[in-house]
Amino acid sequence: MMSSHAVMGSSQETNTLLSHIGRASSKNAGFVNMPVYRGSTILAETLEEWNEAKTNDNPMANYGRFGSPLTKALETSMCTLESGVGAVVFPSGLSACTHAFIGLVSAGDHVLLSDSVYGPSRQFAMNVLRRMGIEVDFFSPTSLSDLTEKIRPKTRVVYVESPGSMTFEVQDVRAISSIAHANNAYVVMDNTWATPLFFRPLEHGVDISIQAATKYIIGHSDALLGIATANERAWPHLRAAAHSFGETAGPDDIFLALRGLRTLSIRMQQHWRSGIALADWLSRHEAVSRVLNPALPSDPGHELWKRDFTGASGLFGVVLKPMSPVQLSVLFKTFTLFGIGLSWGGYESLALLVDPLPTRQGGAAVVDGHLLRIHAGLENVDDLINDFSNALSAALKAR
Ligand SMILES: *Cc1c(COP(=O)(O)O)cnc(C)c1O
Repeated sequence: MMSSHAVMGSSQETNTLLSHIGRASSKNAGFVNMPVYRGSTILAETLEEWNEAKTNDNPMANYGRFGSPLTKALETSMCTLESGVGAVVFPSGLSACTHAFIGLVSAGDHVLLSDSVYGPSRQFAMNVLRRMGIEVDFFSPTSLSDLTEKIRPKTRVVYVESPGSMTFEVQDVRAISSIAHANNAYVVMDNTWATPLFFRPLEHGVDISIQAATKYIIGHSDALLGIATANERAWPHLRAAAHSFGETAGPDDIFLALRGLRTLSIRMQQHWRSGIALADWLSRHEAVSRVLNPALPSDPGHELWKRDFTGASGLFGVVLKPMSPVQLSVLFKTFTLFGIGLSWGGYESLALLVDPLPTRQGGAAVVDGHLLRIHAGLENVDDLINDFSNALSAALKAR
């Protein structure tokens, strides 16, 4: 199963980087990890030092709202991993998405979002951007001609997410970026699924790459955080938006994100391995109509995934054959290892019944049955398969 695409998403080079980026032991009494700095006021020793701390774009740079050495450590680490020139930490993943938009758009602009983006990003565009006089439209995640038809001289942002939320369509990010740039638009990508270990958006033409660090980077379901990383072209806009809106994140959460980076690669390898084993097993089960996971050779997005990605996360979709409400209830009651809950990217496995249909413009064609979103956690994969097997058997018997 894994032979054609052996687990190799992060080279030894990346593993080594993850152990060493964002540390400054010699400046922190020798401690391996950066300390948590708390505070608003940062004192200068002299007037000269105070003046030196100001930057061209920010006379208040030496203030807690613009981050501590710990914040800078996470931001520079993300720049290294994403090949960016600047990164900003936000208090949630969604906050990183919305501020990337706000930094780039003005009244009268037009923005295009892939039809499969994360629901709250879509809601933000429809409910907030439209109210601010920005035209919002959606394009099919798998149709470059749909994008070409809809892009206009006033299009300022093309917003993508690959694979798509809930439905996992892989997008041709490089081709989308070419079309957007030929129109002078910026490309923003939500890269939470792959993390920078398995896909590097900026190297595929994207201008701002977003991580909901809440998911794999923090990795333990114990904090919320977002990070947006920009190339040279987009960085001044992103930085200005973050500063203007007063965005700042809590120091403990930033600490947890930096700590999460240390084990990101080894966790991702396991999520990948377990996710594909579980997806493959499910794809052959009598209760399953379709598995949505681009790492499976049968998936329509597999070739693009293989071309562009160096690994797959543990998050994927399963379309069940029709089940009654009683059967669905039994399915979820029988799970002992899969929790019912939002978010993903932690060590624990999750299963959730989701409904992408009402949010999509493309509407009907998306899925033809009950859609489960599965996160394969770090439990033993045979135990996960057994748990699913028991739950599906119980549901089928409850018919
Ligand atoms: C969870 C998620 C977000 C939002 O992250 P929060 O930290 O929950 O705000 C954004 N994009 C994607 C793809 C996500 O899965």
